[in-house]
Amino acid sequence: MGLFDRFQPLISSLDEVSACGANPFGVNLERVLSPTEAVVNGKETLLLGTNNYLGLTFDRRCVDAARQALEVSGTGTTGSRIANGSYSGHTKLEQALAAYYQRDHGLVFTTGYQANLGVISTIAGPDDFLLIDSDSHASIYDACRLGSAKVIRFKHNDAKDLDKRLQRLSGEKGNKVIIVEGIYSMLGDTAPLQEIVEIKNKHGAYLVVDEAHSLGVLGANGRGLAEHAGLDDDVDIIVGTFSKSLGAVGGFAVSSHPEFEILRVACRPYMFTASLPPSVIASVTTALEIIEKEPKLRDNLWANVNYVYDSLDRLGFRLGPTKSPIIAVHIESRELATHVWHELLGAGVYVNLALPPATPGSTSLLRCSICAAHKREQLEAIVRTLAEIGERTSLLPRARAVGA
Ligand code: PMP
Repeated sequence: MGLFDRFQPLISSLDEVSACGANPFGVNLERVLSPTEAVVNGKETLLLGTNNYLGLTFDRRCVDAARQALEVSGTGTTGSRIANGSYSGHTKLEQALAAYYQRDHGLVFTTGYQANLGVISTIAGPDDFLLIDSDSHASIYDACRLGSAKVIRFKHNDAKDLDKRLQRLSGEKGNKVIIVEGIYSMLGDTAPLQEIVEIKNKHGAYLVVDEAHSLGVLGANGRGLAEHAGLDDDVDIIVGTFSKSLGAVGGFAVSSHPEFEILRVACRPYMFTASLPPSVIASVTTALEIIEKEPKLRDNLWANVNYVYDSLDRLGFRLGPTKSPIIAVHIESRELATHVWHELLGAGVYVNLALPPATPGSTSLLRCSICAAHKREQLEAIVRTLAEIGERTSLLPRARAVGA
């Protein structure tokens, strides 16, 4: 058997999906024009498939800060912080994140993926238990694999199931660490944080919240679900990313645990990789200030979310359960989902296609993500295009038939 033979089933299924006329997992943005537009296949296309919730990727202040840092400090750090040193920007950003989240400590990672990988795999040892939601992001699953703790999955957003599983561990001495997400990346729903905190307290567990998609989106200051729910003080560690609302790349973790800083010399995904370049650190630091100072961006985002969600709902599309900047359109078959995705791209609208088994409940999804920078005319055009294609492909009557 050859080295790549075991990929044959995957190759066949990718070929099947690409038979629609394009590979949905290999879209090339030939030229990015703005947070909401790019040239794809030579055609100006509206972007509804980014995580650029606040549209900060082209913000003048962020771009200028990055450019200045590039000129002053160079293109990269060329090494890890423990081996090759930290630049002052890294430390300042960590202080800014800790202050924003009102915690004592902040750690910056090179990606959000590595923040989860590092924090979760390191904090729980061989005698401990990680209790993770079944819809957790791949970085949380991979962290469980990398670490040595025992892993228990509970049903998605089911606090009773979590309670039951913790109850079964009541005789165990090891620490119990619950991990949930502020907004789940596929369906856009939020964790039932109040109930989860009650269960955490009842069982003396710890709580980690990944605010990757909720930072900049939820809470009066944009800190995420914990702030929105008034439960900031009940969360032991917050993990997040710079690649969504903050418009760049990187990740972070904040906590007030007195020993949190030990992760700098215990957490391999922090220790054994090069740190973020100064330009990225500078743009993220500026973006964080903007998020804090400009709630108007969040208001714009939510006005756009309400418009698109309500319009699609009225048309009869079957949508995810909660209004959020991630609007998931459920489609009953892979073939129809792939076809609709391709039709949309041809009509100049780019959304994300998510197919089973990578989706919750093995449903096919068109994942539409909304940006504060979308103009009303763009959103109207997007809704019109979805309606036309929905009618033409018989998706809309079918969606109504399944009781959306
Ligand atoms: N957590 C969640 C919930 C995510 O959705 C993602 C990425 N989509 C990550 C972590 C990883 O973040 P990054 O892409 O910035 O590495």
